[in-house]
Amino acid sequence: MVTLRNGYIPETLAEALKIRSENQVVPYAGGTDLMIKAQPSSYLFLNKLSALQKVEQDGDMLHIGPGCNYTMLLNHPAVPKVLKEAMIRIASPATRNRGTIGGNICNASPKADSVLILYASDAELKLSSIAGERIVPIEEFFTGRGKTILREDELLTDIRLPLKGLDDYYYYKVGARRAMAISRVAFVGLLNTENGKISRVAAAFGAISDTVLRFREFEAMLLGKTLAEATALKPAFLAKYQEAIVPIRGRVSAEYRKQVCMNLLADFLNSNGI
Ligand SMILES: Cc1cc2nc3c(=O)[nH]c(=O)nc-3n(C[C@H](O)[C@H](O)[C@H](O)COP(=O)(O)OP(=O)(O)OC[C@H]3O[C@@H](n4cnc5c(N)ncnc54)[C@H](O)[C@@H]3O)c2cc1C
Repeated sequence: MVTLRNGYIPETLAEALKIRSENQVVPYAGGTDLMIKAQPSSYLFLNKLSALQKVEQDGDMLHIGPGCNYTMLLNHPAVPKVLKEAMIRIASPATRNRGTIGGNICNASPKADSVLILYASDAELKLSSIAGERIVPIEEFFTGRGKTILREDELLTDIRLPLKGLDDYYYYKVGARRAMAISRVAFVGLLNTENGKISRVAAAFGAISDTVLRFREFEAMLLGKTLAEATALKPAFLAKYQEAIVPIRGRVSAEYRKQVCMNLLADFLNSNGI
């Protein structure tokens, strides 16, 4: 371990967790979010921890180390296309060389582009401390804008991404321009069928509220239905979202955001023959 004036550079995960348990430190991965905040802190620099920079596939489960930067993940053959589509739209190549997926998650911005995909894919997060570890569904990790359940002695140490059924996706990021744009609205939809019946629907909306929004109770309306049955339910399905989505105002109006959300949701259904 190296001790610096402004923090610590551990060489192993065990060392990092020990420092985290004994000191008031801010985990620092790529620093692309932290640098903007520029508050004087004591940092726990994570960039030397190879344990957090691995991608490993175990059957249908992909384990993504939170310390992987976007360039690493974009070049990895096991990372699914839907996640790559979101990551290639994050910032510029220079920022993608520094910024990590773990930082994107722990920063807890509703505009975090990789988080949207992880929500729809039912990803889980492993949170570790010297006392042990816990695995939580990504939806339970966030408690608000910039707020998570991560304890002061914990680090995010694994992202568990179930790979099944991610090929059939619809993804759209709406920004001010094509490149280097923060999301104004982002949407991902997944729809799978088995034996002619819908076996999975996931529709997640980013950048419109304090966290990513997903309404499992509405998704359930289409489960087990044929495409024809789902088409008959479409007006009722869309009406539920029309009522439930209440975007907050940002750089663009809430009305604009809502309309874009509804257009994307309808187009997602359309693209699946519903
Ligand atoms: C110019 C620019 C453009 C950007 N464009 C986009 C964009 O288009 N889309 C987008 O989603 N983001 C964008 N970002 C935001 C940023 O690049 C990403 O959120 C990035 O993934 C953050 O990762 P990082 O490693 O730099 O995080 P850091 O800044 O190192 O950390 C962010 C937060 O996560 C915590 N943290 C990091 N790792 C861990 C861990 N393992 N355990 C516990 N806590 C941890 C830190 O303590 C901190 O609170 C942009 C940033 C810049 C500067």
